[in-house]
Amino acid sequence: MIRRVLSLCLTVVSIVFYASEGFGQQKSKAGDGHLRTSPKLVVGIVVDQMRYDYITRFYHRFGDDGFKRLVDEGFNCKNNHFNYAPTTTGPGHASVYTATTPATHGIIGNNWYEKTTGEDVYCAGDDSYESVGTESDAGKMSPHRLTVTTITDQLRLATQMRGKTIAIAIKDRGAVLPGGHTANAAYWFHGGDEGKFITSSFYMSKLPKWADDFNASKAAENYKKPWTTLRPIDSYLESGIDDNVYEGLFEGENAPVFPHDLPKLWDANGKFGLLSATPYGNSLTADFAVAALEGEKLGTDDIPDFLAISFSSTDYVGHKYGVNSKEVQDVYMRLDEDLARFFKALDKKVGQGEYTVFLTADHAGMDNAAYLKDSKIPAGNIKWNDSKPKFDAFLKSTFGTTDVVEVFSNYQFFLDQDVVKNLEMSVREVQETIANEVLTYEGVEHVYTADQMWQNEYTDGIPHLIQNGHNQKRSGDVIVVLKPDYVSYSNTGSTHGSPYTYDTHTPLLFYGKGIKMGSTVMRTEIPDIAATLAVLLGIAFPSGATGKPIVAVLGHR
Ligand code: ZN
Ligand code: ZN
Ligand code: ZN
Repeated sequence: MIRRVLSLCLTVVSIVFYASEGFGQQKSKAGDGHLRTSPKLVVGIVVDQMRYDYITRFYHRFGDDGFKRLVDEGFNCKNNHFNYAPTTTGPGHASVYTATTPATHGIIGNNWYEKTTGEDVYCAGDDSYESVGTESDAGKMSPHRLTVTTITDQLRLATQMRGKTIAIAIKDRGAVLPGGHTANAAYWFHGGDEGKFITSSFYMSKLPKWADDFNASKAAENYKKPWTTLRPIDSYLESGIDDNVYEGLFEGENAPVFPHDLPKLWDANGKFGLLSATPYGNSLTADFAVAALEGEKLGTDDIPDFLAISFSSTDYVGHKYGVNSKEVQDVYMRLDEDLARFFKALDKKVGQGEYTVFLTADHAGMDNAAYLKDSKIPAGNIKWNDSKPKFDAFLKSTFGTTDVVEVFSNYQFFLDQDVVKNLEMSVREVQETIANEVLTYEGVEHVYTADQMWQNEYTDGIPHLIQNGHNQKRSGDVIVVLKPDYVSYSNTGSTHGSPYTYDTHTPLLFYGKGIKMGSTVMRTEIPDIAATLAVLLGIAFPSGATGKPIVAVLGHR
């Protein structure tokens, strides 16, 4: 009897066992669709200096097929922020693609003082490579200062290098950093007499035929025409008056007004380089991206490729004319059309529903300080040179020499460690003494020392953002943060770089394969983008990733 019960039990156990194994087999036959989404192409779009509120401010002016297509048919993260300062282009592009911040990826500025060698370095510069496609030195670039992998690197690794990565921008750093260490190519625009997309010998020894053909087609030449507004200027009610004192001028222009006569301004403003500072730079970027789709056959097989595009001209226009200008409104009206055209090309070449897009920015931007001040808002423009005599006198009387500070770079003081060694003070004391002095200067809101950054772990507020931007090996000894809406910049136009929300609040839109429709007002952060893509694609996270996947965006269980 006992034996019979035991045998019955075994039978039941084996039925259950086989049944569950059978279910498992069926599941694996159904594929790994629950583990990853495999778009044929991932398209990353960074819009340089785009504030989140440009989506809402211009929404009703946009057509159906550009920004609106992403907002209405994709997922809108309405409360997306940079979680570090400095909010500038090199760090921004690096953070979008590495899922982390300058503390980890090492890109602490566009340029910085390299304290180990005493040199000024450029984030994407690399003299050990040659220019390709130009006689100039503009191609001597590589991502060697980026100390971690990008999501584009991870996709290359995950596909045994079969998936392609192509990166495109007007600015070199807008292409080199997103492309990562393993890109098949990064291309950027060289102005002057040439007007061509170029690259570095880091990627290849000569341009591919499709890129040569594009350059030979005089595509850039087509945009040597007056910059007029896309729609009647009277209809641009979402921006300030065209002619005002807060806007900069092209060389040779008397007023910052439409039409901007590019052929007339050409020679005095960098020739082809002038296009970078107009919406035509974005149109040219879109033209080149469409040529790359075709030339590289991106997204035409089942192995995912990655096309990383950065629209740089929005930043140049913002810097010259400012957040509130008619010029900025026009550059977004026109970018909307370029995006619509580009999405149509994706539908045709890759197929609707077969690709995944994200759109974000590398930082946002501040309203012109003088305009704010004239509007009774506390704001100001700091001229560092005004404080220099006072600061030098302080250094002399306190330390006996001004040499104790090697350089002031990116709002940071770098100490001369050899001079500090000969003082009867610790590095920490020197940092604190300088910080206390600078805190009394006009426009300065906060000061932090490197020692503080090393000894504490901040989880919130401005110190947290500063810490995320502070790289132990590369950053300075004393970090200065100005008051909100204070800046050190020209009197015209807009800039960025601060830890405040006007510089951190940027769009984040997802669209296409694997993406839910919807929106969230929960806070998301820039490093979350590449983390989300890693989960979407079912691949490893970038090596320094600190961001978290945005669960609400992902369409699979
Ligand atoms: Zn930028
Ligand atoms: Zn204007
Ligand atoms: Zn900028």
